[in-house]
Amino acid sequence: SSWRPSSRASPTAAASSAAPSPVASATSASGSASASASASSSPLALAQPSVESQPDSLRCLVNKMRPFAQQDWEPSDLVEFYGHQLRAEAAKAADTMIDAAATDGVTLLVSSAYRSYAVQQQTYQYWVSVNGQKVADQLSARPGYSEHQTGLAIDFASPEGCRLEECYRDTLAGQWLAKNAPRYGYILRFPDGRQSVTGYRFEPWHYRYVGVQIAQEYVSSGAKTFEEFIGTGAAPDYASAS
Ligand SMILES: [Zn+2]
Repeated sequence: SSWRPSSRASPTAAASSAAPSPVASATSASGSASASASASSSPLALAQPSVESQPDSLRCLVNKMRPFAQQDWEPSDLVEFYGHQLRAEAAKAADTMIDAAATDGVTLLVSSAYRSYAVQQQTYQYWVSVNGQKVADQLSARPGYSEHQTGLAIDFASPEGCRLEECYRDTLAGQWLAKNAPRYGYILRFPDGRQSVTGYRFEPWHYRYVGVQIAQEYVSSGAKTFEEFIGTGAAPDYASAS
């Protein structure tokens, strides 16, 4: 999801009340959404349709219906990554991927990677202040609901521009990633036309590390979203209004 630096002011206490009970959210996610998901995804062969709840698992699914149980959870193995931070395994794979792209003449820039709960509070509040909450919820995750907090997600950029915009799809970097990222363990997390499942508009710049093995399972499963692949059903919006 989108990131734009705002002030470095310390996070306000107001936003920390936004997280509802994770247990209740997870229950309603699987209960209300599984029917619609299965109706649109009959031929899926799910290798391991488990629901992973450990945030340090490569199968961890975070979305608007599945926030972090511990809202300010932090990875234990963050490393420096192009001026940002990322979990060690994801960073190593991304380094390999960035080198491979360079060999093909394509420059992958890193716009954002790990974002802590506190930073996400600033990000979300920025978008709320600019656009109001309704639009902000389509652009940025609420704190405690962002995949960036796993330390496994990267927002890429390109020297051609189109940063955090849909036209990123048409840049050399966007095209290269769409074709090659799964080979390095990264999947496109918010595909075009799947907002009803993922809760987010098309984000051709946002990639999630799941590891090479799961990425290959994902591609061969035919799933169009990680939600379908994991088998939790859709997460089109938050369970609660605020
Ligand atoms: Zn993102």
